[in-house]
Amino acid sequence: MIGIVCQLEEIRLRILRACERAERNVEDVTLVAVSKTFPVESIRLIYDAGQNEFGESRQQEAAAKIEALPSSISWHFIGRVQRNKVRKILPLFAYIHAVDSLKLARYIDEVAGEMSLRPRLFLQVNQAGEESKGGFDETSLREAMDEISGFRNVEVIGLMTIPPAVDDPEESRCWFASLRKLRDELVVNSNMKLSCLSMGMSGDFEVAIEEGATHVRVGSAIFGAREGKVDGELG
Ligand SMILES: *Cc1c(COP(=O)(O)O)cnc(C)c1O
Repeated sequence: MIGIVCQLEEIRLRILRACERAERNVEDVTLVAVSKTFPVESIRLIYDAGQNEFGESRQQEAAAKIEALPSSISWHFIGRVQRNKVRKILPLFAYIHAVDSLKLARYIDEVAGEMSLRPRLFLQVNQAGEESKGGFDETSLREAMDEISGFRNVEVIGLMTIPPAVDDPEESRCWFASLRKLRDELVVNSNMKLSCLSMGMSGDFEVAIEEGATHVRVGSAIFGAREGKVDGELG
């Protein structure tokens, strides 16, 4: 169990080094520790080591953990959002990373209004057009920005991607660079700031930081290997 605190320290150091290489401030990169499938005790250990942002991908599993842990923790919903779970997800999570359609964004805005909440959203982009993944394609995202910029009850803070799985993280670099470019283009053509980029996981977070990630979602490199594929997992 001490192991995961060491692994957390190791990841922090690697984030720092990546920021140095890219001449970025380390304060501009948020480590979201992805704790899906891992128990409350493991989360508490690294919370005690100063980690305050955690990511979960299943509403039910997360609800039980959130209930058992300090309320000062900031929770990120990183999984696919099912419409019928939105009412349960919104009160628990300050951030939603995988808003994958205009219809869903519209619905979240509506429910957030009813519940007097103001969630922060990332719009997921399916850059490679993979069947297995959700997300906007670039054209539909450009077309949706007009309506999205008018939403009153959500704060759309940026874009998110999960590029195709590869062995060499260098192969992901072009996707990360391209997400950043798309973001820059959308900012020029809308009145939105979109200051955040959620990109990079255990295998490629350093490359993502070099390409401008503000939120890296790191699970197994901190907590260890998960068994099998998790329900609600996107990648
Ligand atoms: C599980 C998951 C992660 C973390 O993956 P690791 O490879 O364990 O770091 C990040 N993002 C999403 C969307 C995930 O589902």
